[in-house]
Amino acid sequence: MNADYLELSDVRVTFDGFVAVDGVTMTVPRGDLRFLIGPNGAGKTTLVDAITGLAPATGSALFGRTELLGRKVHRIVRLGIGRTFQTATVFENLTVLQNLDIAAGAGRGPLTLLRRRSSVPAEVEEALETVGLVDVRDKPAGVLPHGQKQWLEIGMLIVQNARVLLLDEPVAGMSAQERADTGELLRRIGAERTVVVVEHDMDFMRCFADSVTVLHAGKVLSEGTVAQVQADPRVQEVYLGT
Ligand code: ADP
Repeated sequence: MNADYLELSDVRVTFDGFVAVDGVTMTVPRGDLRFLIGPNGAGKTTLVDAITGLAPATGSALFGRTELLGRKVHRIVRLGIGRTFQTATVFENLTVLQNLDIAAGAGRGPLTLLRRRSSVPAEVEEALETVGLVDVRDKPAGVLPHGQKQWLEIGMLIVQNARVLLLDEPVAGMSAQERADTGELLRRIGAERTVVVVEHDMDFMRCFADSVTVLHAGKVLSEGTVAQVQADPRVQEVYLGT
């Protein structure tokens, strides 16, 4: 697939006349670990909602040549667009392996979901390795520390074959070690996918972002490398305060 990129053009989301996303145009190529930052209320979550079919939007959001806007949520997931939320949405009573198995089977229909398998599918093994959860594969997801739950959720997107991952504050509430491990994980998975990270943690962004888009009042205020964005006086004025 050489068309793995996300190209947003003039995306607009309006709630009862209030413009939450005001004509956002941005392109995220494959292999680019893009951070989406901006003050509270800037429109970050709403923009992700628009891309994933959860907020009605105008404009265009292309994944390769496929238009995402106007499609139903499940179609967008099937196209390879995966999303996490601030609170991990894993099945707490099922094991790590079962969670991944369900995610892998999501495209194959509900009856296959919980069948007993004599062997673990290759894509599930691979995802376990990628997200570093091999040692806890048989533990119920509910007992995992916060960081590992987030990694499991990312693993679930990987086995679903997500080509674009939209991650909402993946390191919120994590320890310093978990943050560093998450950054390395994002680099690994981002090398061959398109990853957009909505983030408030500026240190984390400085360490791991390839590029940054700053939203303010629903519009793109600035875009570039971490250094470019940090040096932008408009960003300093409205956001970083440095
Ligand atoms: P961010 O994620 O950058 O903090 P949001 O996308 O959550 O910002 O919100 C952008 C703006 O849109 C905020 O002013 C918020 O109050 C408003 N907003 C978000 N969702 C809705 C909604 N469902 N109805 C009305 N206003 C909303």
